[in-house]
Amino acid sequence: MLNIKIEKTTTPKEKPAKGQKLGFGKIFTDHMFVMDYTEGQGWHDARIVPFQDLVMSPAAMVFHYGQEMFEGLKAYKGVDGKVRLFRPDMNAKRTNDTNDRLCIPQLPVEDFVEAVKAVVKVDEDWIPTEDGTSLYIRPFIIATDEFLGVAPSKTYKFIIILAPSGAYYESGLAPVGIWIEDEYVRAVKGGMGFAKTGGNYAASLIAQVKAHDDGYSQVLWLDGVERKYIEEVGAMNIFFKIDGKIVTPMLNGSILPGVTRNSVIALCKKMGYEVEERRISAQELIEAQKSGKLEECFGTGTAAVISPVGKLRYVDDVMIINNNEIGEVSQKLYDTLTGIQWGKREDDMGWTVEV
Ligand SMILES: *Cc1c(COP(=O)(O)O)cnc(C)c1O
Repeated sequence: MLNIKIEKTTTPKEKPAKGQKLGFGKIFTDHMFVMDYTEGQGWHDARIVPFQDLVMSPAAMVFHYGQEMFEGLKAYKGVDGKVRLFRPDMNAKRTNDTNDRLCIPQLPVEDFVEAVKAVVKVDEDWIPTEDGTSLYIRPFIIATDEFLGVAPSKTYKFIIILAPSGAYYESGLAPVGIWIEDEYVRAVKGGMGFAKTGGNYAASLIAQVKAHDDGYSQVLWLDGVERKYIEEVGAMNIFFKIDGKIVTPMLNGSILPGVTRNSVIALCKKMGYEVEERRISAQELIEAQKSGKLEECFGTGTAAVISPVGKLRYVDDVMIINNNEIGEVSQKLYDTLTGIQWGKREDDMGWTVEV
């Protein structure tokens, strides 16, 4: 149990008006969770304080060598008025996998979940209730030693901020166009691809800009060695329906193990689909599309939940999938997952946690 001190704001901000467009990650609540780590002492001084700027040395290690990690999950205000989290223990476990890779100290799973629950509880009134909206939760850890040497920091801050958010894609659950990137790579085996850390995103920006300039909304990465095999989208894992089977790249060390990915695999199996986790080459997709077997494609991630893909570009090939319409499996998965998250459907998987 954390002994969390709570200091409430005396100047609460105005909450977004009903019906106001929230966007994603632009509006923040009144409070944040902070906890410090000091070598020899461990994690200490868990507290919830008014949302505020950080005061840090410009020599803090995070600014120079990127020793940091982050997570992303959501709190949902159910149709029954209850507040639910979706599998927060998986985010907590993944935090520790990321921490290991980045030489950041472990954070007990139960402390992570307790901290998330506590700060969501304090700002519960900020959770939007319109269809498709939620409270996005962003836990992160930064290295704070004032030191320009290259070594793991001896001090850290674990912070959680909260952002009331609308549907991730402005167009809602509409098919997106995706650019299969053949020049830049995001991650390699032995690198940080499986870890949720800012460096992976810094490495991806250049391709994202290029894809946007060409009218595509996201980048789909190929493996960093042969540049042949499908890995994942910028912030989503990727699934295909090929000849009736659900196929997704296997976790190989350079792919982020998504909570949504894991949940989608379980749901597809429950729906009776055969699910294959394996290598998929871009060439296989082109051939499947030519023979009419590439039936569906969708991305999975906390932010968008399910994001149908209607168009895939690879070098000189532009594949239009399912007539650029939302596929049957994509729609079913979206309805099932969001139904569980908003308490509209029975959670027979035991995935939700009440705050
Ligand atoms: C967070 C993330 C995902 C999706 O993971 P979820 O747990 O489903 O939200 C996929 N890819 C990358 C690179 C990510 O950072």
